[in-house]
Amino acid sequence: MLSRTVVLKIASLPPVRHLITRGRPFRKLVDRFVAGESLQDALRVATHLQSKGLKVSIDYLGESVRDRQMAESVVEEYLRALPALAEAGLDTQVSVKLTQLGLDIENDFCVHNLERIVQCAQEVGGFVRIDMESSEYTQRTLDIFYALHERYPNLGVVIQAYLYRSEEDIERLIGCKASVRLCKGAYAEPATVAYPRRAQVNSAYRRLMRKLLVNGHSPALATHDESIIRDAIAFVQEQGIPPQRFEFEMLYGIRRDLQEQLVEQGYQMRVYVPYGEAWYPYFTRRLAERPANLLFFLRHVLR
Ligand SMILES: Cc1cc2nc3c(=O)[nH]c(=O)nc-3n(C[C@H](O)[C@H](O)[C@H](O)COP(=O)(O)OP(=O)(O)OC[C@H]3O[C@@H](n4cnc5c(N)ncnc54)[C@H](O)[C@@H]3O)c2cc1C
Repeated sequence: MLSRTVVLKIASLPPVRHLITRGRPFRKLVDRFVAGESLQDALRVATHLQSKGLKVSIDYLGESVRDRQMAESVVEEYLRALPALAEAGLDTQVSVKLTQLGLDIENDFCVHNLERIVQCAQEVGGFVRIDMESSEYTQRTLDIFYALHERYPNLGVVIQAYLYRSEEDIERLIGCKASVRLCKGAYAEPATVAYPRRAQVNSAYRRLMRKLLVNGHSPALATHDESIIRDAIAFVQEQGIPPQRFEFEMLYGIRRDLQEQLVEQGYQMRVYVPYGEAWYPYFTRRLAERPANLLFFLRHVLR
């Protein structure tokens, strides 16, 4: 089966990107993972999820922004989204990517943009989670996180279990009472920085998950991996850790059955709801992480 690296490389070729983003038939597949293109779409999906007892974090899709005005328009979108979520009585949590806020343009510009969003979130009692992008951004993302977290406790970050460095990062983040979302990691990384084998990533995830459950500050376990989720539940029961101390998180459109089951069992479950026109890189990562998605997609193309 094609590796994640190969799938992501093919997907980044301009003709492939053009075919998929312009082709109407692909829309249905995209809709499986993306709430829609407008804030209204995200609010509609969030309202539906919340009516089923699920929490949400909305994400205005986009990354690798190299134009100042575009980065500023992303900030404006979040400044509209946060009060809109609050007014609708929804969870006021958003996820942001720093390259969408201008990290590739200038560090200070990105920090300023992020701070505007975090301040707005603070005003409406909301929370901002910084997504983690590929490893070339890890250190800069954490530096920016630490610079703002002292003043804004409503700011959290993501750590990827596949990176060798993550154990140390988690220890430092626990030390400063930061809220960490733990995920496996979605980018194509070389073996010099990340575990190359699935089994290694899974065992790193379990190790880091236990650390966060015991000592972390409102940790979020972001995974659809049922065996890891079962282990987490067994671990918290054994340790007497109450369900309010942590949450599970999953992506919109993936394992809806399990999302609802966990809510029924009394666990907090948050769904990451992406929306916006710039859905392409997010969509290709979802295809690349599961062979069945890719086969489904290729069958659709051939038809
Ligand atoms: C809330 C949330 C936030 C995230 N934020 C980040 C981030 O900031 N940075 C980052 O690098 N990654 C992020 N990710 C993605 C993450 O790193 C993984 O790539 C992704 O979650 C798949 O890994 P898994 O833990 O579900 O386990 P896997 O072993 O990949 O999957 C376990 C099972 O989940 C189901 N599944 C998983 N993925 C899919 C899919 N695409 N389509 C259909 N079924 C699927 C399948 O049943 C599969 O067998 C996030 C994930 C979540 C849930």
